[in-house]
Amino acid sequence: MCRHLGYLGPAVPIAALVHDPPHSLLRQSYAPRDMRGGGTVNVDGYGVGWYPAPGGPALRYRRTGTLWSDENLAALSRVVVSGAVLAAVRSATTGMPVVETACAPFTDGTWLFSHNGRVTGWPGSVADLAKSLPVTDLLTLDAPTDSALLWALLRARLVTAPPAAALASVVSEVAAAAPGSRLNLLLTNGSVLVGTTWTHALWVRSGDGAVTVSSEPLDDDPRWREVPDRHVVTAALSPDNAITVDVQPIGR
Ligand code: GLN
Repeated sequence: MCRHLGYLGPAVPIAALVHDPPHSLLRQSYAPRDMRGGGTVNVDGYGVGWYPAPGGPALRYRRTGTLWSDENLAALSRVVVSGAVLAAVRSATTGMPVVETACAPFTDGTWLFSHNGRVTGWPGSVADLAKSLPVTDLLTLDAPTDSALLWALLRARLVTAPPAAALASVVSEVAAAAPGSRLNLLLTNGSVLVGTTWTHALWVRSGDGAVTVSSEPLDDDPRWREVPDRHVVTAALSPDNAITVDVQPIGR
């Protein structure tokens, strides 16, 4: 299954998260430690999203193929700095297309989104949920994949619901319609970072005015904490640059 990470804090080069740590996302693309539910490597694509201007829209770069062979991204990642980053490497679920538009992060305005997992019984199991969306949303999905549909469902809820509530409601409804699904979702708008655990690993490290959420710890820093299963973690930067991290159970 895919791996993803999110960061909020002082501006850092993207490479400090994606390329440089001992167990970076780059390393997790070919040597992940905790794949569950099939897949051994994450070589079907990758993507990085960040904020060129704080408070402005996100910018997203994504490609099919292997992260390690993209020397252009490696070079850009050393000079592009951002105070919020969301990045992912993809192991396509069997039967889903290996195309650029299926790679996270999915984006709209300030939002960046990633899904680690799969929807059981796709697509029939969630057909009724999909019918709740305007047909134009369905016709303009990035790709015919579970992750792209999850993003459309979530985006519709983000119009009215706070991020953590929107994420938790999508997970609860999809899990009810498609039991056995793996639904680790990750979302940021540059000032709040929200992730769910639903049968996949997720770790959080906070301190020094920064927070990183990652499928696998990026290094051996003792501050990494595993998020319990079936929870939603919300990290936010307060106006005085303090980090708050809140972990709540989903649907109980
Ligand atoms: N099911 C999603 C896809 O195929 C996510 C894959 C994953 O987490 N391995 O893109």
